[in-house]
Amino acid sequence: MMLVSEKRKVPLLDLPALHQPIRDELLAAVTRVIDSNAFILGEDVKLLEKSIAQYCHVPYAIGCASGSDALLLAMMAAGVEPGDAVLTTPFTFFATAGSIVQAGATPVFVDIDPATYNMDPQALAQTIRRTPRARAIMPVHLYGGCADMDPILEIARDRASVVIEDGAQSIGAEYKGRSAQSIGDIGCISFFPTKNLGGFGDGGMVLTQDEGYARKLAALRVHGAHQKYFHDWVGVNSRLDSLQAAVLRVKLQYLDAETAGRQRNAGRYRKNLAGAGLPIGLPQPASYQTRHIYNQFVIRAPRRGQLKAWLQENGVGSEIYYPLSLHQQVCFRDLGYREGDFPESEKAAREVLALPIHSALTEQDVDYVCQQICAFYA
Ligand SMILES: *Cc1c(COP(=O)(O)O)cnc(C)c1O
Repeated sequence: MMLVSEKRKVPLLDLPALHQPIRDELLAAVTRVIDSNAFILGEDVKLLEKSIAQYCHVPYAIGCASGSDALLLAMMAAGVEPGDAVLTTPFTFFATAGSIVQAGATPVFVDIDPATYNMDPQALAQTIRRTPRARAIMPVHLYGGCADMDPILEIARDRASVVIEDGAQSIGAEYKGRSAQSIGDIGCISFFPTKNLGGFGDGGMVLTQDEGYARKLAALRVHGAHQKYFHDWVGVNSRLDSLQAAVLRVKLQYLDAETAGRQRNAGRYRKNLAGAGLPIGLPQPASYQTRHIYNQFVIRAPRRGQLKAWLQENGVGSEIYYPLSLHQQVCFRDLGYREGDFPESEKAAREVLALPIHSALTEQDVDYVCQQICAFYA
């Protein structure tokens, strides 16, 4: 670790640094869409769908308005109905469980594995035994690391449940050599600006290997019409804009470099922090092979609030993803959960802190952040 003596600013996210070098390309893409007069779906969306399908190794990808909508459309395509249960973890972004309620179903929570922050397959096996209408299982690949999919798939097969991957944070991640979002029945991606592949606004995509699902998804996003004004289902209005698709097509070319930068920074954090005798917890490697894409680099920090304030005072951005486990949210009170029901999720919510990890960080930036953490606990 190099000693960085001057104070510096290390923001959690630096979109200008990401966009400045490719500004001309982005402007050319946006201009092309303006001139084309095709603003919704259109050629850019088709081409992006094709590229993302290739990138994630699935035959079908269907663009939509957001990652949240991708989850909703996936459940609608899978036939999730009112009265059904969808099993997921309570330690995730709100949309995971919110979309389940939007689909008319009931979220049934399963605690996380504290090493990966993702669904604990053993807990899933126990919970699903006492869940009568377990129509779907929705594992989340939180922070860009994959959930342990093989045992989850096996449990799903036993119970004839559909597996919908919430891959909002995990584009490019891999599980035992398989692409995230290609492992379950349906996979969902978000292009929210803070994701590794972020647009200039909202956007999302649904991925599947199944032609039937693909056809239904393509209809559901346009009010369930398989052909204009002929409706097989009641769908929603959830389309991807051509402007977003054009921007995302440019940015997709740089996604592997972005991921490599994040992995490099994660390695440097580990090297700096592992042997420093700090009371913090570093991201733990999973017990199975994965390619982690570090949408977030998350430590467990004693006296977290004070550390966050200390970092802020010293110019370093950090964030808590997420401060309250979903089973404790006011809006889910009627699900009947109590404090203590999911101890690992609750513990994570008390301890986690995300550090800057984006590819525009320099080695000095990472060293400076580490230095500030060491100084705080000294
Ligand atoms: C971002 C996110 C979503 C929702 O995506 P939006 O595009 O913001 O609607 C869903 N699940 C997880 C885990 C996310 O991080």
